Amino acid sequence: MANNPFACPVCRRPHGALFEGPCADCLAQIAQERPPACPRCVGETVWVECWECGGEGEHDAYELDPIWYEPGDTEECSQCDGEGGWWHCEACAGERLREATGCS
Ligand SMILES: [Zn+2]
Ligand SMILES: [Zn+2]
Ligand SMILES: [Zn+2]
Repeated sequence: MANNPFACPVCRRPHGALFEGPCADCLAQIAQERPPACPRCVGETVWVECWECGGEGEHDAYELDPIWYEPGDTEECSQCDGEGGWWHCEACAGERLREATGCS
């Protein structure tokens, strides 16, 4: 495939888009899997609990700002978007760290 150098690493079909990574079909399927494969390298991921909210996905808003909020009010955690954590890819995290530090 001379004019389409990028193929999906999951189904191995050329996906017509000029980027490396899974095609739209495979990405949709990956998103359904638990744990989902890393969208970047299609490797294994582990669930990391959000340190900001302790895995709750929300904060006790009244505790943070009792003037503005009513007791019992909650606010979605901005760190994890209310998910309580995220899927973490060890391989890509290491790669990003190497990119950031310049170490190999
Ligand atoms: Zn695919
Ligand atoms: Zn990855
Ligand atoms: Zn959170």
